[in-house]
Amino acid sequence: KRLIFIGPPGSGKGTQSPIVKDEYCLCHLSTGDMLRAAVASKTPLGLKAKEAMDKGALVTDELVVGIIDEAMNKPKCQKGFILDGFPRTVAQAEKLDEMLKKRGTGIDKVLNFAIDDSVLEERITGRWIHPSSGRSYHTKFAPPKTPGVDDITGEPLIQRKDDNAEVLRSRLAAFHSQTEPVIDYYAKKSVLTNIKAEKPPKEVTSEVQKALS
Ligand code: ADP
Ligand code: ADP
Ligand code: ADP
Repeated sequence: KRLIFIGPPGSGKGTQSPIVKDEYCLCHLSTGDMLRAAVASKTPLGLKAKEAMDKGALVTDELVVGIIDEAMNKPKCQKGFILDGFPRTVAQAEKLDEMLKKRGTGIDKVLNFAIDDSVLEERITGRWIHPSSGRSYHTKFAPPKTPGVDDITGEPLIQRKDDNAEVLRSRLAAFHSQTEPVIDYYAKKSVLTNIKAEKPPKEVTSEVQKALS
């Protein structure tokens, strides 16, 4: 399967992706995770992306398209993929179409994690991440067994620098102006399914599974 998960920051894309990835043996390509890894290891790409990420703006289309093009060539992505956080502009969606056409494939399904802005601040400010795997927890909604510690590896959890109320406002503004048109783009191609992302995590998982079955 070749899938896209679209939704505002905190809508649950990163929480649902590993479940779907394991069920269908897909690779999970999160441009946010890949960019943060590049920033942390101070690669040339990371240095270019950091400023925009810190203020909650989008990085250039060129940067993320390059990352995705490279990642899709990996052996583990040949059975299919989940694109999480990409495409975020119509220009990125058009580039993706070109990339897939070149490979003789296309997108099977786009899930739109629909949710009201008002619930996102609590989700984002309570989010804790295990950086190397991208696993996310929430102090209230999905607490780790031990506060501040990853359940699986025992390694420390961190809070993302951009997960605060102020930067969230910029990220939401970017979502509404630049990413919402991408939802229309896929609706017109009849590959879009809306997911009620405000429900509890397990109910969201059932909706996602129903949409993909
Ligand atoms: P995204 O990847 O879309 O930015 P995440 O999956 O990281 O969002 O979720 C944001 C935060 O909200 C995380 O702390 C996560 O544990 C929590 N969360 C995810 N899904 C739900 C849900 N359905 N209900 C409540 N909290 C959720
Ligand atoms: P969230 O999980 O909260 O939705 P992400 O982790 O996907 O956020 O993205 C974090 C930051 O990385 C964004 O604010 C943006 O600066 C950058 N970014 C990630 N994906 C893209 C993309 N496809 N296009 C442009 N910028 C991106
Ligand atoms: P998974 O096994 O969950 O799919 P991976 O650790 O293989 O996750 O990483 C997913 C994507 O993130 C890969 O496509 C990889 O290119 C990218 N990635 C992982 N670590 C780094 C890193 N340190 N720098 C840049 N990209 C990275």
